[in-house]
Amino acid sequence: MSDIIQLLPDHVANQIAAGEVVQRPASVVKELLENSIDADATSITLLLKNAGKTLIQIIDNGKGMSTTDARLCFDRHATSKIRNAQDLFNLKTKGFRGEALASIAAIAHVELKTKQDNDELGTAIKIEGSTIVSQEPASTAKGTSIAVKNLFYNIPARRNFLKSDTIETRHIIDEFQRVALAHPAISFLLHHNDNEIYHLKESNLRKRIVSIFGSKMNEKLVPINEQTDILTITGFVAKPEFSKKKRGEQFFFVNDRFIKSSYLNHAVVNAFDGLLEYGAHPSYFLYLDVPPNSIDINIHPTKTEIKFDNEKALYAILRATVKHSLGQYNVAPVLDFNRDSNLDTPYDFKDKKTVSTPKIIVDPTFNPFKNDVNDQQMTSNSSSGSSTKNYQSNYKKETGSWESLYANIEPIEQSTQEQLFEQQQETETGKTFQIQKKYLLSSIKSGVVLIHQSLAHQRILYEEFLENITVKEASSQQLLFPVTIGFSSADIEMIYSIKSDLESTGFVFNEFTKESVVIGGIPTSITESKITLILEQLLDDMKIEVPDASFSHFDVMAKSFAKSLAIKTGTSLSVKEQENLVNNLFSCKEPSTSPFGKATFKTLTLNEIDTIFNK
Ligand code: ADP
Ligand code: MG
Repeated sequence: MSDIIQLLPDHVANQIAAGEVVQRPASVVKELLENSIDADATSITLLLKNAGKTLIQIIDNGKGMSTTDARLCFDRHATSKIRNAQDLFNLKTKGFRGEALASIAAIAHVELKTKQDNDELGTAIKIEGSTIVSQEPASTAKGTSIAVKNLFYNIPARRNFLKSDTIETRHIIDEFQRVALAHPAISFLLHHNDNEIYHLKESNLRKRIVSIFGSKMNEKLVPINEQTDILTITGFVAKPEFSKKKRGEQFFFVNDRFIKSSYLNHAVVNAFDGLLEYGAHPSYFLYLDVPPNSIDINIHPTKTEIKFDNEKALYAILRATVKHSLGQYNVAPVLDFNRDSNLDTPYDFKDKKTVSTPKIIVDPTFNPFKNDVNDQQMTSNSSSGSSTKNYQSNYKKETGSWESLYANIEPIEQSTQEQLFEQQQETETGKTFQIQKKYLLSSIKSGVVLIHQSLAHQRILYEEFLENITVKEASSQQLLFPVTIGFSSADIEMIYSIKSDLESTGFVFNEFTKESVVIGGIPTSITESKITLILEQLLDDMKIEVPDASFSHFDVMAKSFAKSLAIKTGTSLSVKEQENLVNNLFSCKEPSTSPFGKATFKTLTLNEIDTIFNK
């Protein structure tokens, strides 16, 4: 029998390789952008026609190529980036396989112009379907311009397989964003059919994110920073309340390369645990720096999946870091780079010693919750001393300041409609109205605000607890008769392990036995009848939250306490109580969400109300 094995001609091999590397115009964009970055460009322009189907052109100001290299770069396995297999494990460049240009040239009409800095003349090459059509000297700027025309012109099946221009453009923009996010110091320009889509100036990461996703993004970002022996994590996650119903802005970069990793995504989602509404996806921009020899990038032709040596450790660090930063943000929402951070009082434990306890004059006879509300809510402990930041007194103190802060939530001028409310109840600052023992409706300048009473109270209590725990000295009330509460030994263990944290909230533990704790003092903000409930709830929450050693328990505690003590749906509130709730909510640092990320209120502007009736 005769031999039947043949070596494939280069152009066929290249076409086959192209099938792996180039699926669509966006793949070309990715490869070319990465080449420009590897060439140390500081400015990159991307021009597109018809979603890249007609033209993809990239112009950079990088180091360019010599005449010989300009010809060689289209050969398969032609690369300047690695020399031997060992180099694969110490990659500092995006490319290394030396197949992108060979693949692209096999399935398109390509025009290359390139010049190195010191050369007088550059080189222009035209290549079509792996065949060089022309090569000549050319006067051109320093750097490289590659125009890729008529992609898949010789593979009709692939060309027909392309999606609509809208979808292909979306894919290109995705790739563009990934590269632009990985390199904020490089300026980028993107034009599509002569329209400017992005003009990204050289900047820092935060500004780059904002210039890509819009200025609204700025207030959403919580910075992440962590350095350990095996990795450095920087970047941002979006505050939980801005999470998306659809998976959207989720970006991982490893050594400045965008990667997909469901494993790492899981770590982040896990860190948001309890903060996200069901089905919501967190947004994040996370940059992991690891030693190049601890990862394998060469497991996938498009290099978006990589293998880590110590995946489990990365998972744990990532999760703990994100969780910690979210906790910090909940504690101190001081993250806006335009904002004067001196205006905020972070609840920072470090500052505990330097912060003097605010003196608040408590009116001991004033108790808005006196009759109608059973002991669901915190009781006023006027006996416990005037240093307690009393929930009720808070209102009187803060009314003035919240009005100026939330000027647009001031009451609107008298109008006939409003008199409806007026008949129900009249208050000094706004008319409130309780609906179904669940919501409060209050008129504001621009329309109405609808408040969820229980969630709003959770927010108020949560911030109060955090402040009490971290900024102030714990205020404790001595119990006349110490209370003994029975728990399982595992639970006792757990309480014991957070004993000192609990003590900073005002708990005093007289004794721990095998199955009980003896409590001699409690925080002034809770009542004796609530001790068991609060501790049991806390234990439950601690079990779900899986406290890390590095992560403060305060946040979990404050949330748990807020959840246990907040007035519930079904509680009717007097006018005064409603008013207090509204005012205290808008004195909060983050009034718009509950500690668990749910919305506490919703405003309906007059315009919105008008459109309801004009449909
Ligand atoms: P790889 O990037 O894996 O090396 P490519 O086919 O993408 O393979 O590129 C081949 C070579 O061509 C690169 O190694 C580089 O030397 C050169 N090259 C490609 N694009 C550029 C560019 N924009 N500027 C300078 N050199 C480039
Ligand atoms: Mg490349």
